[in-house]
Amino acid sequence: MNMDLSPEDLAFRDEVRAFLAAHLPERLREGARNTPSVFVEPDIGDEWHRLLHARGWVAYNWPAEDGGTGWDPVKRYLFEKECALADAPALSVLGLKLIGPVLCRYGTPAQKARFLPPILDASEKWCQGYSEPGAGSDLASLKTRAVRQGDRYVINGSKIWTTHAHYADWMFCLVRTDPDAKPQAGISFLLVPMKQPGITIRPIVTHAGDHEVNQVFLDNAETLVEHRVGEEGQGWEIAKYLLENERGGSCAAPRLLADIEGLKRVAESEPSGTNGPLGAQDSLRRRLARLELEALALETTELRILADLAQGRRPGPQTSLVKLVAANIRQAIDELAVDLFGPLGLQLPPERPLYGNSAPEPVGSREAQLAMPAYLNGRAWTIFGGTNEVQKGIIAKQVLGL
Ligand SMILES: Cc1cc2nc3c(=O)[nH]c(=O)nc-3n(C[C@H](O)[C@H](O)[C@H](O)COP(=O)(O)OP(=O)(O)OC[C@H]3O[C@@H](n4cnc5c(N)ncnc54)[C@H](O)[C@@H]3O)c2cc1C
Repeated sequence: MNMDLSPEDLAFRDEVRAFLAAHLPERLREGARNTPSVFVEPDIGDEWHRLLHARGWVAYNWPAEDGGTGWDPVKRYLFEKECALADAPALSVLGLKLIGPVLCRYGTPAQKARFLPPILDASEKWCQGYSEPGAGSDLASLKTRAVRQGDRYVINGSKIWTTHAHYADWMFCLVRTDPDAKPQAGISFLLVPMKQPGITIRPIVTHAGDHEVNQVFLDNAETLVEHRVGEEGQGWEIAKYLLENERGGSCAAPRLLADIEGLKRVAESEPSGTNGPLGAQDSLRRRLARLELEALALETTELRILADLAQGRRPGPQTSLVKLVAANIRQAIDELAVDLFGPLGLQLPPERPLYGNSAPEPVGSREAQLAMPAYLNGRAWTIFGGTNEVQKGIIAKQVLGL
């Protein structure tokens, strides 16, 4: 694809840049910089979401007729890049990038009318009920059972690692509706209200100290049949479409590149303890240069995927490649940050958040304080959305034909 920016693209980039300069408050920038996770808390994420919604810029991967921006791939990418450079909080993917596009493609007109507007204005939040104890990589073995009774389904089972279930109004959920069919064929895709007596949420606090994930128990939980997306038994097809978006419809490279730039700046000022700044050391410069090259290569692949999406083509298994490479670069950046800060990079404050008035005092700089929480939190990158081993299996079979 042609990577040269047209005058129109440059004007768009300047427009985004000017909007960010005028409307992205420093409090939100500080919150985003000091969040050790890809998942931003609602206190900063929602405010940014609403500011973008007011500008009409919140759903860039939805068709324009469903409330999306109608941007081409270059504009989407420029937008992500400018947001990353300005330290904008990452928007929650659950509504905007996961269930939103699924509803745009598979939803009935009534489902679109009911569910899309509250995603756009952030008045309703979502969580993803795929994984179960015993069904993660082997998702098709999931056991949560939904039985149809009149105009509703009654659901029993348990979902685990459910990100932000404690904030969610709705869960998009894979359930087994036909236990006698082949595993994939017996699965349906339901939208389940979270605020009901049949749902219990148990928090899981990770080794990094963050509460992001949960176990969700469904004990005779209910949802209406009209809240099933697609037909009974079509859940697996829809689930795969959503996972392709989760793994590849993203723009990971701009944030990775922005973080690499941030580390370069720190390296230029952090003393090495022997001779000059850390940034003067060859070994460190080599690691930074290698990471930057890998992130730039990833950027090209992401742009190719965005171009495929814009042509109405599904990106297919190359999204697994992007997920794999982005996760590895993310973790290499986090490791480098810990190495860079030395002993100061080993602190692990239990308090959250690490921004705002109640944030704990850092030993050394705030960047140093963030290094270990980010490193530990970032271990999840090679697990969520499908583990590295699973992505490699998909690439081996579907790309390399092994
Ligand atoms: C921070 C975080 C957030 C998450 N958020 C959500 C969420 O919101 N919603 C949701 O539904 N899920 C979520 N997940 C769950 C995530 O998708 C699963 O953890 C992941 O798919 C792996 O499943 P598992 O944990 O059951 O591990 P398992 O599938 O039991 O895997 C264990 C190990 O075996 C390896 N393995 C398994 N199968 C193969 C194979 N075929 N070939 C080679 N190696 C294999 C894996 O790579 C892994 O190392 C989240 C996970 C994390 C860590």
